[in-house]
Amino acid sequence: MARPRSTFTVQRTERLTPHLIRVHLGGPGFSAFQPSEFSDSYIKLIFPREGIDVLRTYTVRSIDPAAGELAVDFVYHGDEGIAGPWAAAARPGETIDAFGPGGAYSPRADADWHLLGGDEAALPAIATALEAMNSDARGRAFVEVEGPADELPLTTPAGVELIWLHRGTRPTGELLAESVRNAPWDEGQVQVFIHGEAESVMHNLRRYIRRERNVPAEWAASISGYWRRGRTEEGFRTWKADLATKESAEPIQASR
Ligand SMILES: Cc1cc2nc3c(=O)[nH]c(=O)nc-3n(C[C@H](O)[C@H](O)[C@H](O)COP(=O)(O)OP(=O)(O)OC[C@H]3O[C@@H](n4cnc5c(N)ncnc54)[C@H](O)[C@@H]3O)c2cc1C
Repeated sequence: MARPRSTFTVQRTERLTPHLIRVHLGGPGFSAFQPSEFSDSYIKLIFPREGIDVLRTYTVRSIDPAAGELAVDFVYHGDEGIAGPWAAAARPGETIDAFGPGGAYSPRADADWHLLGGDEAALPAIATALEAMNSDARGRAFVEVEGPADELPLTTPAGVELIWLHRGTRPTGELLAESVRNAPWDEGQVQVFIHGEAESVMHNLRRYIRRERNVPAEWAASISGYWRRGRTEEGFRTWKADLATKESAEPIQASR
């Protein structure tokens, strides 16, 4: 990821759903911000903690050049952690530094169909991808949230079916994995974008897509965890590195 560091100012915040908070960031950081070409564009927010810069990764949900703002949607997953609680308490005028942007995926116009999946953490990237698709795009997008109040209106091409999944009290990612596995598999070349809780994505869905459905890496590069149950982002990075080491002898490569 390109790593220019800039300072953003919180302009305002909005509670989109019970578990999603949108923070609009502007100020000098926006003037210096060079948008990426990718629909999964992300920044690394920097939280200084006891002399150390703690990084948290967030999707750039949208950019509004006229207002001089970008929007970032934070999952509020309780009082644990740094970034979620920060978003819940953020007030206009406060500043936050960030590196970025990075990114790797955009919907391809030459895909016959698209398969997207994720939980609340991937919802911003899925929403942005759906908006970036051509109007004649086809496919299915599965979004797992806790309940009906967590659904958001999304702009979707007519040929892409948007399927909301309500997990209730089940562990995050279980219903997503089941639903993707049980969904019809269309003819033609699929492009896949699936992110969310790492255990469910990496050990279940990535295996299904790459091994059982034999989707080549070129079309299924963007399947990875965005967070890991019971681990902070630092702990999740260690988990990812361990998994990549274990898999280095196997044909599937760890992505991002
Ligand atoms: C490329 C990329 C893009 C991402 N984009 C977004 C985005 O747009 N919006 C977004 O909200 N997240 C996004 N994430 C995920 C986000 O980086 C992690 O959820 C991060 O761990 C949140 O940091 P935190 O300080 O709130 O919690 P941490 O300090 O990292 O973790 C504290 C505890 O909270 C748990 N936790 C962390 N995230 C979640 C969650 N989503 N649901 C339930 N429990 C959780 C952890 O397992 C841990 O037990 C993205 C991740 C990547 C890699």
